[in-house]
Amino acid sequence: MDFKIAVIKGDGVGPEIVDEGLKVLDKIAQKYNHKFECTNVLGGGAAIDVTGEPLPKESLDICKASDAVLLGAVGGPKWDNIESSKRPEKGLLALRSGLGLFVNLRPATMHESIKEASPLRADIVEKGVDFVVVRELTGGIYFGERKTGVENGVEFAYDVEKYDENEIRRIGKKAFETAMIRNKKLTCVDKANVLDSSKLWRKVLNELAKDYPEVELSYMYVDNAAMQLVKDPSQFDVIVTNNIFGDIISDEASMITGSIGMLPSASVRGDDFGMYEPIHGSAPDIAGKNIANPTAIIQSSVMMLRYLGEQEAAAKIENALVKVFEKGENLTGDLGGNATTDEFTNEILKYI
Ligand code: NAD
Repeated sequence: MDFKIAVIKGDGVGPEIVDEGLKVLDKIAQKYNHKFECTNVLGGGAAIDVTGEPLPKESLDICKASDAVLLGAVGGPKWDNIESSKRPEKGLLALRSGLGLFVNLRPATMHESIKEASPLRADIVEKGVDFVVVRELTGGIYFGERKTGVENGVEFAYDVEKYDENEIRRIGKKAFETAMIRNKKLTCVDKANVLDSSKLWRKVLNELAKDYPEVELSYMYVDNAAMQLVKDPSQFDVIVTNNIFGDIISDEASMITGSIGMLPSASVRGDDFGMYEPIHGSAPDIAGKNIANPTAIIQSSVMMLRYLGEQEAAAKIENALVKVFEKGENLTGDLGGNATTDEFTNEILKYI
């Protein structure tokens, strides 16, 4: 099969890890006789440096014409002080909304063999960590009305958290469907004791629940969820939540599994198109040192292959990762090893 992939390497560790992901895809292409026609596309700080825009129109057009987008990470101190509408992260938001990617799926799975890397106590992680955060991606406070100004000599700023019932219904459906192919347990994380927007989420999810009688739906306030995630992550199967809460708790989830360098994500919509990226950022503190863990981008490629219908190739990579973790050699520093980024990838390539 031939696949057109738009590749946005981005900034910081982005280019380093994406190159590792592409090595893995190359090996898969050889083994399964696939062709990944990869087009490098500018995005984030790298695009600002060349065009002045974090997401040039040409980049969005190439992404739209592709079967999938593979993205490293964007941002970094170099672009921290530019006008907020031109910052690298705005390019990412524009990409998500421009491609209509309203669902962000963030699986958090603990590999048994590297559980020592988790900061949680052994008796907690031994119960298992295997859940998915279904985060709404194109609405809420990150896209709401915002303003900074001065009123009666006093500076103010606000950002609006607004959702309509249709936005909640479409992400809710995706969450119930995700629960149906897992353990049929769905937890909506919100702040319904304070926020009207959360109350609307509950109303719409309660209505949807009638179509999915097998799914056990529950609600949890976000402050409690933050605590429960470290107290007993095994209680979760599928979490559905808004854009901002999903952003925060999925970083927490990543740390539970050992390192933020481990977790992938897929941003999807109603069809089989998607954008695949690690949940971590551009890690400027370790960029250029060849020590970043490339697992998240490799796992993102696995998610991409699954959405493209290439289950066997996806499983091949996953099994290779498990073997490397089980062997416990050539792990990167964040997992307690001292391998470089490419040494770790080479180890994976041996098992593909
Ligand atoms: P970060 O995720 O980049 O880094 C947090 C910590 O995790 C750092 O100590 C970093 O070294 C470590 N880390 C991250 N990825 C790692 C990997 N693959 N292997 C080993 N360690 C890893 O978050 P941050 O420091 O808050 O943000 C840095 C920049 O990235 C900012 O400009 C931010 O806006 C941007 N950012 C981009 C994205 C994205 O592109 N999707 C997401 C989050 C943050």
